This record gives sequence, structure tokens and C-alpha cells, in this order.
Amino acid sequence: MIPLNKPYLPDQANYLSYLQSAFDSQRLTNNGPLLQQLKNRLEQYLGVKYLLPVVNGTMALQLAYKTFNLTGNAVTTPYTFIATSSSLQWLNISPNFADINPQTLNLCPDKALTAVNKNTSALVPVHVYGNPCDVGAFEEVSRKTGLRVIYDASHAFGIRLNGQSILNYGDASTLSFHATKLFHCVEGGAVIFKREEDYQRAARMINFGIAQSSGNIADVGINGKMSELHAAMGLAVLDDIDNILTRRNQLFNYYKSLLNAYLDFPLWHQGASQNAIYFPVIFKSAEACNQAFLTLQNQGITSRRYFSPSLSSLNETFSGQTSSCFHSEAYAQRVLCLPLYYSLTEADIKKVCATLIKSLTAS
Ligand SMILES: *Cc1c(COP(=O)(O)O)cnc(C)c1O
Repeated sequence: MIPLNKPYLPDQANYLSYLQSAFDSQRLTNNGPLLQQLKNRLEQYLGVKYLLPVVNGTMALQLAYKTFNLTGNAVTTPYTFIATSSSLQWLNISPNFADINPQTLNLCPDKALTAVNKNTSALVPVHVYGNPCDVGAFEEVSRKTGLRVIYDASHAFGIRLNGQSILNYGDASTLSFHATKLFHCVEGGAVIFKREEDYQRAARMINFGIAQSSGNIADVGINGKMSELHAAMGLAVLDDIDNILTRRNQLFNYYKSLLNAYLDFPLWHQGASQNAIYFPVIFKSAEACNQAFLTLQNQGITSRRYFSPSLSSLNETFSGQTSSCFHSEAYAQRVLCLPLYYSLTEADIKKVCATLIKSLTAS
């Protein structure tokens, strides 16, 4: 059996030493010492300022939407995990879906611009599979329309574009630190803000709206704080992050060398690094994709149609209008993500690829 994913488990003694410090300090939450340490180390490692850790990646998105007072609709991609859009709808902001670029599978800036209407309050592109969006073009759309840009960067931990962190683009970017992601805190997430005042407002909002300096209620808030126990896991995983990235990239490149002749891959942004968070492959047709999924399943190998269905097809779930999302709906049926995790072996990858190639050549 080869699962799609396995969470990274850090060295147990190291993890326990962080937990011990929480027992020693008797601090369990509320911006404790482990959380502050994690925030500082993440800012340094990622090359960002104003990073605010929160309970999960969905809270990170909602907090960003609230910080910028989003209303009406937000132009976003239908080709993503459900949380990008359900987090909008939960706040009564309609996802306004625009189509993707068929080569990169990221939101198309021209289509996004066309979808903007008088009730649009922001753009919410996603760096799908960690592949940077056309951030230059979105900057241009933002300048033309005056709209905020909030990137769902849940997949883009550690990604750099021409040496600069991808998280420094837009008004804010969000990360997920869920156990299935590249870097994790079991559950967790963060928002990275461009401006200090936005960061300060969001920091109050995750603490019930209570201003840190005066203790006054300055905003309607929520409880979005990350605990010390979650920060402890984050610190232990962060100690191993270079190893994790090196190993995942080795596995990614091995996959690529075996499958290059048979399948297509999303076109990676020029000048961007690779974090090997997923290994997506593009099939010639929905039938070939489906056949491969079933053949892998028969051999005990789990693959997943990430991201299917195209969210533009969920008319019952999402209010609001949708432009034609032809490419998103087609690629949702033609892409599979193959198993990829730290403890996967080259032998596993050989088996996955041999099974896949057999399915392709049989049909
Ligand atoms: C994982 C993920 C989220 C949600 O993050 P959680 O930490 O699970 O709440 C949001 N958007 C995308 C694109 C994701 O992959």
C-alpha cells in the first residue's frame, strides 16, 4: 500500500524538549514564548515581516478577508482546494470564479480583470502546487482596479521568485500548517501582511478584538490563536526543514525523470524555486486519467484528483455568478497528484511509475 501522503514526524526527543519548555514555563497559549519563537524563526527563514500565526489555514484566509473588510464578491480561481472559496462564502462574500491559464493551472490575470464588477472587493489568487501566479500581472490588475490582492499561498511554503519570497507579493498571503502540508504544526496557519497596521489589526482580531496596549475592545474579533503545543510541533519540524525540502525535491526529480516521456506537468513560473509539495501529472484525456487512477488503486496506490471538481461547477454551494471556466473544468478531470511525502522511497516511486506507464500504454 502506498498512500497519497503521510505527515512528517520530527525527532521525538526534540519535540519533547520543546513540550518540556511549555511545562516549565506553564504557558500553554496566548502568545506564549514558543509561539513567539516560531513566529520569529519563520519570519527569518521565509524572508518576510509581519507574520501572524493562527489556528489553521482557513482561519488565515478568513482573517485576511476580515482585516481588509471584504464584501460583495472576490475574484478567485475555481481550481483549488475548497477552503479558498468556502472561507469566502462563510463570510457572505461570493466567490466570483474566473478561469485558469491552461499551462500553469493558476488564475488567469486577464480573465480575472474581466470578471471584476462593481461589487468586487478583492482578488484571491492561489499559488497552486506552490507554482507562483503571474504576480506581476496581478499587481497591474490591482493598480488598474484599486483592488486588494490576497494570495492563498497554502502550497507555497519557502517558494522564492528571483530570490524574493513569494509571500511578499500582494497585500497579504496566507499559509496552511496542516499535518498534510510541507511544513506543519499538526493544525495551524499564518497570514503574512505587507503593512504593519494591517498586521496589528489582525493580531487584535484573533484575540477577541482586544487591543494589546490598552486592553480596550477595538474590533469585533474571534479566537484564532495558535497554542504553545502546536507551536512546539512547528519548531521541531522547522529544525528539519532543510532536510525535508532536499528529500522531497530528490523524490520529485526522480518522478519527473521516469515520467517525462509519458505525461505533462504544469508549466512552472520562470525564476521560481520548487518545494515539491505535490507531484501533479496532466493526462491527455479525462479517460486516460480515470484509467490511471483505477489501475493505481488496484495496485494499492492512492492518487488524488487535486483539484476536482472545479469549484465553478458547485452551483448549489456557492452564490454569485461565474464566468465560463472551461479550462478549470477540463483540467480538473485530467490531473492526478501522485504519492509524495518525506518517507516515500525510490522503490515506491518505481512501482507507482511502472503501474502508471502500464495503464497509459494499455489504453
Ligand atoms: C490546505 C489548504 C487550505 C486550508 O488550510 P487548513 O490549514 O487545512 O485550514 C486552504 N487553501 C489551500 C489551497 C489549501 O491547500
